[in-house]
Amino acid sequence: MPEYRQDPLSRRWVIIGSDRAGRPNEFVEATTRHTAQPCPFCAGHETETPPAIATYDAGLGGPWSVRVVPNKFPAVLAEEVPPFPGAALESQSEGHPLPGFGKHEVIIETPRHVASFSELTPAEATLVLRAYRDRLRILKADGRFRYVQIFKNVGAAAGASLEHVHSQLIALPGVPEVIRQELQSSLDFFQTRQKSLLESMIDSELDADLRVVAATSRYVAWCPAASRFPYETWLAPRFAQANFENGEDGELGELAGIARDVIDRIERATGVSTYNYYLHTAPFDRSAPEHYHWHFEIAPRLTKVAGFEWGTGCYINPCPPETAAAHLRGAANR
Ligand SMILES: [Zn+2]
Ligand SMILES: [Zn+2]
Repeated sequence: MPEYRQDPLSRRWVIIGSDRAGRPNEFVEATTRHTAQPCPFCAGHETETPPAIATYDAGLGGPWSVRVVPNKFPAVLAEEVPPFPGAALESQSEGHPLPGFGKHEVIIETPRHVASFSELTPAEATLVLRAYRDRLRILKADGRFRYVQIFKNVGAAAGASLEHVHSQLIALPGVPEVIRQELQSSLDFFQTRQKSLLESMIDSELDADLRVVAATSRYVAWCPAASRFPYETWLAPRFAQANFENGEDGELGELAGIARDVIDRIERATGVSTYNYYLHTAPFDRSAPEHYHWHFEIAPRLTKVAGFEWGTGCYINPCPPETAAAHLRGAANR
């Protein structure tokens, strides 16, 4: 029997199917890789991107391990005047257009031409997370931004224009509606239950052990009950931390390990490496709210978002997250 479910954090509704779709390999064809072609993100092609803002070296002998550069084709511009410095963008725009102020950066995750986070070495993956953390700290200190969206597109169907594994970030002068909704849901829950919503979701997932994919002492990955997509997986700390930029160096290796493991499991279980992930973290302009938890949402792109989803904001997911989690638990490599 199909089932309506609501995600308590985003308050989105989904329709979970009754597993009639079977294994996800039936949803899409495997992507073809062109791993032999040199590209602007490969070592030796550094002049084809704008000069680096930051580089990280894992000591593996190359010129760099992770490289942060401005996006050559930015969606928003730092040269624009910030619309209302320090003020709430939403409350002052009154629906009028505002200058496209912001920052658009690219994090190139390895000098080698590989396509997925799962193909990074542990050292590279850790440095990628450190770059996320450092960029958040630096853009927060800049004072002109209120939120930074960090995201990754892997595979053409997920919106990647270059195959070489990379993430992007867009620093915004306002807080996106999705984050505002998550903060509001978390605050409402905290006010009635005196507990963090995400912490409570994580506790009940660990207790039920129906949808948990992997866990370490500090982090847990699970398929959310109201998954929008087959094999959707969230990754969050088991301890209270609202702002990703508050993470310490010593925590990042463990997080990189579970992130690589989970993405590798998704690729093994589905036979496809096409996904988006994005980090949800508390905005800059408030002291770390104890009711919020940063988290990564990993969204494999096995099905297409179509007319019903566009029209309603409600997602039809043919693969129950309980089934997906069982497959993912059985898909371990290391
Ligand atoms: Zn490349
Ligand atoms: Zn979220």
